[in-house]
Amino acid sequence: MRCWAEINIKNLYHNIDEIEKVAPKEKMIAVIKADAYGHGMLKICESLIQKRIRHFAVATAEEALKVKEFDNDVSVLILGPIEYEYMDKISEKNIYFMVTDFEEIKYLEKSQIPTDVFLKVDTGMGRVGFQKYEIDELIEKLKNCKFVKPIGIFSHFSSSDTDAKYTEFQENNFEEISKKIISKLPSVKYKHLLNSFGSLKLKNDKYDFVRVGIIIYGGVTDEETKPYKFKPVMSLFAKISYIKKLKEDSFISYGNTYLGKAGQTYATVSIGYADGVRRDLSNKGYVYYKGHRCEIVGRVCMDQLMVHIPAELADEVKKGDVVEFFGENISVSEVANLCNTISYEILCGISQRVPRIYV
Ligand code: PLP
Repeated sequence: MRCWAEINIKNLYHNIDEIEKVAPKEKMIAVIKADAYGHGMLKICESLIQKRIRHFAVATAEEALKVKEFDNDVSVLILGPIEYEYMDKISEKNIYFMVTDFEEIKYLEKSQIPTDVFLKVDTGMGRVGFQKYEIDELIEKLKNCKFVKPIGIFSHFSSSDTDAKYTEFQENNFEEISKKIISKLPSVKYKHLLNSFGSLKLKNDKYDFVRVGIIIYGGVTDEETKPYKFKPVMSLFAKISYIKKLKEDSFISYGNTYLGKAGQTYATVSIGYADGVRRDLSNKGYVYYKGHRCEIVGRVCMDQLMVHIPAELADEVKKGDVVEFFGENISVSEVANLCNTISYEILCGISQRVPRIYV
């Protein structure tokens, strides 16, 4: 194997234990969309079922159908908009989904599909969901529905990691909207709002569930989650395939952006941007190798990249040695910072070509 992502189930379980300090397992909806943030959806689902998690959330109808096929007894909620052609099939399979506008309610009524739905309300995320000014009309419409039965309501935070004030504004909006809806529509039984950071920072007693994603996978820093501590579930590794000690200064990789120095040792590593190592890390990132951080030099190529081997390791480095891109020694958040993005994008971006090894 030239490169692989090691998925550590012990760390996954540690993270669940940590979340249990704020919410019991029965209250957790584990977000396993986008292939469980790149960790392998069904494997993560299976491991979490063994840990007695019963509720899952995904983004698409295809993902939901896969989870239900795997275990028909767990509950699955689709968090993303779904195509009309799937609605029949997913309500038949008892997969929960959300309605976000009047057109969807009209479609379900017209198709005479008896459906339990969640109402998605927009409390300030500005993505999808009923607006505050639509709530009275929504209640009236739903009272007259024969097929659509609203059983729950939820919304999503835009900045629970960074903006406590705006999060409070959203929470107040949600409280106001959900109170109104629940008082007028008795079939609405469930409400939830808190994502990972929301769950760690806010009380959840008002809510039936918390929807947790990134903290399950440990794609966070201790600083962000204090006093709770999460462990990285994914570590990304690759093997050294070639080593050279330069006799004279010469360029390394595309575009001649790095001039290798005479007398220095460089190694080529079998992983590249097609595997999910971002090109932003060219001349900027590093790998962890035998206790040292080795700089990535020159541009990251599609399938390979080069690193500088420090003098202390120059005599012992050998083909087949393994380097870590992120995991225990370099956090995925650190890599994300270097790429001007978030850990979510780095984790989801590890491509399908990279085997996932579960340990
Ligand atoms: N709820 C919704 C609607 C989401 O879209 C997401 C993730 O994007 C989550 C919950 C989980 O968020 P996090 O990974 O920050 O916990």
